[in-house]
Amino acid sequence: MSDYQFMAKLYGVRGSYPIAPEEGTKVGGNTTCLMVRTPEHVVIFDAGSGIIRLGKELIPEIIQHNQTSHQPFHITLLFTHTHTDHLLGLPFFTPIYMPNVHLHFIGPATLGMDFEDIIATTVIPQFFPVGINEFRCRKSFHNIDENMMVYFNPDNPVPLIGRIGETEPAFSPLTIYNMKYYFHPKDGSYVYRVESNDKKLVFATDVEEYHGADQRLVTFSKNADVLIHDAQYTAEQYRKFSGYGHSSVDLACEAARQAEVQKLLLFHHDPNNTDQMLYDIEKYARTLFPNTELATEHWEWKL
Ligand SMILES: [Zn+2]
Ligand SMILES: [Zn+2]
Repeated sequence: MSDYQFMAKLYGVRGSYPIAPEEGTKVGGNTTCLMVRTPEHVVIFDAGSGIIRLGKELIPEIIQHNQTSHQPFHITLLFTHTHTDHLLGLPFFTPIYMPNVHLHFIGPATLGMDFEDIIATTVIPQFFPVGINEFRCRKSFHNIDENMMVYFNPDNPVPLIGRIGETEPAFSPLTIYNMKYYFHPKDGSYVYRVESNDKKLVFATDVEEYHGADQRLVTFSKNADVLIHDAQYTAEQYRKFSGYGHSSVDLACEAARQAEVQKLLLFHHDPNNTDQMLYDIEKYARTLFPNTELATEHWEWKL
């Protein structure tokens, strides 16, 4: 028996590229990866370098599953977008090489290119020695768009894709809604909201709020229990980097305040920011939105 009904766990919190500073980092040096799951349903958001540790953690569970079931072990992998920092861990995600795993890839077509083709391109022989057809897992690919939702039947780990307004899941242990965010170069990113029972978690990385908070995102995140929000820059850094597709800490706090969320996690930390700088940022952020924490690679929410 599991000791949880719902769990969210972060494996990568760094923006842009992974870091391994000489002095170490307690916050975490790996790029974006979040897992949300129930005992039966495993959903991963983004495949930054953080997904490598997650893959290793899943192996004992997959092996155990295969000893007791003839069905594959299903994993749903959703992408916010396909910038390198959200993708670079994928070919090092061990379950991809396990034939009794079924990976459901769901992500955006970008600038006219299908999501499956984007993933395939990242592992062409010029970039990586193992091509997409050599991934030994079973694979399904879906382009996502704004009208879609991803949900599950309680006893089935296979994700179902529905259309908002047409599909009303009777009871889904995890339901995932999305919102396309247009202000991230060059073809936007997707923000996701996970709902499980009465809990809500919003994952808003690679978003730039500009001033006064994006009202679409405020509505999408309204009253969430947890908002994981891009906060790559300090206000001072943001003056140099506005328009690069990331938010300052101040903008993240303003979005959290207007959306009246329970908790804000500052996410997608700039690779140039040391742990000490991040702790100072956290302290400052709490003056704007008291229930704020830095997203770290050790953060976990279990219910
Ligand atoms: Zn990013
Ligand atoms: Zn990006």
